[in-house]
Amino acid sequence: MQDPSPTTSAPGQQPPRRPRAAINVDIDGLYLYDRIHGHAGASGNTADFSAASHDATVWTKGVTRFLDLFARTGIQATFFVVAQDLENPEVQAVLRDLVAAGHEIGSHSLTHPYDLSRRPAAEIVNELTSARAKLQDATGQAVTGFRAPGYVLSTPLRLAIADAGHAWDSSRFPCPAYQAAKLSAITLYHLLGRPSGSVAETPDIWLGPRTPYVDRLPDGRALLEMPIGVIPRIRWPLIGTSLIMAGLPGWLALRPLTRTMDWFNFELHGIDLTDHEADGIPDRLKTQPDQWIALRRKWPLLVRVCEDLRQSHDIRTLGQWAESEI
Ligand SMILES: [Zn+2]
Repeated sequence: MQDPSPTTSAPGQQPPRRPRAAINVDIDGLYLYDRIHGHAGASGNTADFSAASHDATVWTKGVTRFLDLFARTGIQATFFVVAQDLENPEVQAVLRDLVAAGHEIGSHSLTHPYDLSRRPAAEIVNELTSARAKLQDATGQAVTGFRAPGYVLSTPLRLAIADAGHAWDSSRFPCPAYQAAKLSAITLYHLLGRPSGSVAETPDIWLGPRTPYVDRLPDGRALLEMPIGVIPRIRWPLIGTSLIMAGLPGWLALRPLTRTMDWFNFELHGIDLTDHEADGIPDRLKTQPDQWIALRRKWPLLVRVCEDLRQSHDIRTLGQWAESEI
């Protein structure tokens, strides 16, 4: 299999293999946060929601800042896109910039239903095949990977990922702390009479493998699974939200534990590089804890994390890792 970033070494000498890392960004529009937090009557929760004119702040502000971050730190990343967002011309323009900068585009489904895993099989297949076709049309690239809304998989969804033509998935999040917190939030919103669109993952996943593995489907096909990063043993979540909440002191404390991690799949969200005040994000979305933290604190933290990871790890896109692993 082709090595996407060959290193030089003396003839007959194997270069030492650096630990593997990938950085990826789920581009969830503001309307999806309204759904998670059950804000009735707000953007994502109205019957007249329009994908063509939804509030594209996450794309125009957050994703463009990620482009700057990765250009500055020399990183090629994977961006998971909700395909219906492409109906918005503002989104199309940013997507072109992502492709021109050499980043990989992955599928994050057509409409990002949080309960996708529980929908009828035909509906799941339609979500995934339409999303992949739209993304490939828009980018002119093969879209080989998928991430499930809310990180929740099921057998029909795993089968549909392969049926739609993907070679790999990166949805498993084997983090008991995150999964337990999510379950309590869903329960709390239910008790408050403000049902969340979110659904919980089954407990057997909470302590599942944390490094890439071949997921053998019931019909015998193989799907490469590349789990989202957690620190070995303590399973602390290596995602944008948790690092932003921990801040620079938190990162510096965790750094020794991450330096030799053999798989560091750093998952971020487009909203992570927005500024609640300066970008005019509606106040109701302060239910999202990292929205309380200003961009002037998040930006230097993410620059530092990217620079540190470049030093310790071999960073490739998830698609490049899939090619070398399969
Ligand atoms: Zn998402």
